[in-house]
Amino acid sequence: MRQSQLFTKTRKDAPSDEVSKNAILLSRAGYIYKEMAGAYAYLPLGLRVIDNIKKIVREEMNALGAQEIIMTALQRKELWETTDRWSDEKVDVWFKSTLKNGTEVGFGWSHEEPITDMMKNYISSYRDLPVFTYQFQTKLRNELRAKSGIMRGREFVMKDMYSYVLDAEAHKKFYDATIQAYLNVFKRAGIGDRTFVTFASGGAFTEFSHEFQTLTDSGEDTIYLAREKGIAINKEVLRDDVLEKLGVKREDLEEVAAAEVGNIFDFGGMKSTELGLFYKNEAGESVPVHLGSYGIGITRLMGVVVEALSDEKGIVWPKELSPFAAHLVLAGTSETSRALAEEVYKTLSESGIEVLFDDRDVRAGEKFADSDLLGIPTRVIVGDRTANGMLEVKDRATGDVKEMTLDELTSELKK
Ligand code: ATP
Ligand code: MG
Repeated sequence: MRQSQLFTKTRKDAPSDEVSKNAILLSRAGYIYKEMAGAYAYLPLGLRVIDNIKKIVREEMNALGAQEIIMTALQRKELWETTDRWSDEKVDVWFKSTLKNGTEVGFGWSHEEPITDMMKNYISSYRDLPVFTYQFQTKLRNELRAKSGIMRGREFVMKDMYSYVLDAEAHKKFYDATIQAYLNVFKRAGIGDRTFVTFASGGAFTEFSHEFQTLTDSGEDTIYLAREKGIAINKEVLRDDVLEKLGVKREDLEEVAAAEVGNIFDFGGMKSTELGLFYKNEAGESVPVHLGSYGIGITRLMGVVVEALSDEKGIVWPKELSPFAAHLVLAGTSETSRALAEEVYKTLSESGIEVLFDDRDVRAGEKFADSDLLGIPTRVIVGDRTANGMLEVKDRATGDVKEMTLDELTSELKK
């Protein structure tokens, strides 16, 4: 893509009411547009990042054997009344509305109820199990505060997965495999070294649920970390009996700020019992289906990566999330340098490499500052002094500069 054709422009300043680093950098660079507090539009560059995150998550969920669907945003009141989650006292983030005929509806903030109810159409025997399914959906939540940029939206993209299995044993197996898949996701998203599986308060049947917490000062949560042991505990379950059970001492724990990027939960047979999802076992007895639910905040993850990896000059994308593999910057003004840049653009593009080509008619200094702000991992500079076909290649994260031929660059980027 040619940068001269991109309708978004970089800006010196973010919207004046923006306080969080992720929203300031992403707005200035043109990834997002703030419609109102807690609601952001994703622009061409931002959409590429979202799609890259979804691609990673989709690959990891498919590898678990899960099938992708899309449920509805409109929710039936009766369904949520059945499980006692309709009232605003029980769930304080509902957005609700009324149809023309007077029927009340809610906007989906989570989907355990409708998916479990729907599964009554497809699960009736032990032979129908297991079922693993997931979706990417825009969730709507009337959050009290929305000051963390895209990390806490009133409208945000979540991946939610649901597992329907025979019993606790089958659940445990899938749950553990999901923990591994989630760790793969966060590793590929560039935050593996600072993301910890964290013990949090449990559900109806289990003592703990598990959160995936990423260390960042911008996080709204406080966790307690035994770094060497790789054990993290959410503040809400920091009790003597829990410490003893996990084999850690209070004085060995660091108190750190973190953001919850994912969360997994064991519902046991509770929801299925409430909503009437039973299967017949081999003996012909009726048994509630065992439910697990597994979330990842897709847009929050994008914000957390910006918070965690950016520097004073701008964003630093990990390879798999970057909107482009390379940022080709024409820094020269001569005909020769322009022709060489065009050749590099053509060759890389034809090799299937995603390139953003800064072909604009602006000063080189401005282009470099914009390139730092945009955060594409590899920068290729073609200047008036670029000679003998040796291109200047700069690593955004480390600042290291190498010279290489177009051939070498192409094979490097294809890796
Ligand atoms: P939090 O404690 O941060 O409000 P939650 O416990 O309400 O999160 P879940 O309902 O489990 O979150 O949602 C699954 C995932 O969706 C979370 O782990 C988080 O990554 C993301 N998420 C939750 N609320 C928001 C929000 N308002 N904006 C963006 N992402 C969110
Ligand atoms: Mg919440």
